[in-house]
Amino acid sequence: MEEIREPKDLPSVEELVKHLEPLQLPRPLLVEAARSSIQEMRNQILKRLHAPEASSNSEGEISFLRLVERAKQFIDIWTRSWPVKVINATGVLLHTNLGRAPLSKAAVEAMVNAAGYCDLEMDIESGERGHRDKHVADLLVRLTGAEAATIVNNNAGALFLTLSALAAGREVIVSRSQSVEIGGRFRIPDVMAQSGAFLKEVGTTNRTYASDYQNAISESTAALLVVHRSNFRLIGFVHDPSLSEIVEIGRLYNLPVIHDLGSGALVDSSMFGLEHEPMVQESVSAGVALTLFSGDKLLGGPQAGMIVGRGEYVARIRSHPLFRALRCDKVTLAAMHATLMHYLRGEEQQAVPVLWMLGRKQVDLYSTVQSWKSSLLDCGDGFEVKESVSKVGGGSIPEIPIASVALVIDPSRWNLSADELAYKLRTGDPAVVGVVEDDKIWLDARTVMPEEGPLLVQAVRRSLLLRD
Ligand SMILES: *Cc1c(COP(=O)(O)O)cnc(C)c1O
Repeated sequence: MEEIREPKDLPSVEELVKHLEPLQLPRPLLVEAARSSIQEMRNQILKRLHAPEASSNSEGEISFLRLVERAKQFIDIWTRSWPVKVINATGVLLHTNLGRAPLSKAAVEAMVNAAGYCDLEMDIESGERGHRDKHVADLLVRLTGAEAATIVNNNAGALFLTLSALAAGREVIVSRSQSVEIGGRFRIPDVMAQSGAFLKEVGTTNRTYASDYQNAISESTAALLVVHRSNFRLIGFVHDPSLSEIVEIGRLYNLPVIHDLGSGALVDSSMFGLEHEPMVQESVSAGVALTLFSGDKLLGGPQAGMIVGRGEYVARIRSHPLFRALRCDKVTLAAMHATLMHYLRGEEQQAVPVLWMLGRKQVDLYSTVQSWKSSLLDCGDGFEVKESVSKVGGGSIPEIPIASVALVIDPSRWNLSADELAYKLRTGDPAVVGVVEDDKIWLDARTVMPEEGPLLVQAVRRSLLLRD
């Protein structure tokens, strides 16, 4: 194959496309790949011509064959399926970048059932039209003790919709210590402004009293909003009125209390040795008008925003025009139904992956990592079993460390940098994401499901032994 040294010797797009036709893909895609390949090689040629000393020949000789190969590479990248399954060895249970809560097997099956035609909005018994949120709402009512329930796209949407439906053009009272940013630009003042409600902050950053709420109530007050400080804590000289005190004020002035719970635990997080996260049932029984929470945080389901509370308010939310814009699709509803069903059956601690992972004992994690290490002994000597720290993550319970165990790999034993090994693991098959610390790779066992163990070991072996 002849080397191409000058731009004028580059083939035409058409010539290149001819060699891509066997791929049997739409012509515009082939043309774009051919153009991209030619463009890239032209730039390389120009660089070599203008600054021969700066451009080493390490990029190799440019030939027609190489142009074809590069065009095929472009097509490969563009037609790759997405998303890629990842083994989460970060120890962060609700890893936002890795999709927050992994779903249970039953939830995945339900999603498959929903994918085709299903009884989304049809009552199978009568053949009549039904509501898509009915089945999930029924479960939420049963599990939380609320009068009514519904579900939307996410908790940010739930709060936005609730404020729009109940408080547009009027005031909502919030403690200064709860006018917070949760992450991903979700800020209480901004959501409030978008909903058309007016934020009335009361109290101070560290101390707010029941009387502050009371003094702020006026003709134009529509609701009192309580926001759970999900991802940070105030300590020291602080005061917040209790939820029941605020509910009492609401009752006195006939105002609904809206409680944005964030994580929305349906089980007591203290049984995992964590701080007690306020539970949905507690919020409901305190007499809050509406409780809002996420589906994909501690609940362990798909992305969704749950709204539970008094019937009249839920009805107003459901009839608001934005409800349609924020409603969940059938696949999400199916996954949420299956997830809530685990709670109804009392099997959530085994069946909901997030809860199961939280409950894993450090001694068991230790033997898991020991077994990973033993199966990797043939790769060389650069593995250690070390105590590590898992986190809940996902903007729920703040960075509270959970004792865990990790396989720590020293990549220098294989002449790799930590970043190089992290890259190989990330782009391997299956993809493995760990944590780089002290020039080593930490693979935390807590977030790796048992059936993923052998795959992880295989991926590590390949990353260390295969050279590219
Ligand atoms: C996480 C969180 C939200 C946002 O929930 P999404 O389901 O991610 O939209 C809102 N409010 C609080 C208090 C939260 O913790």
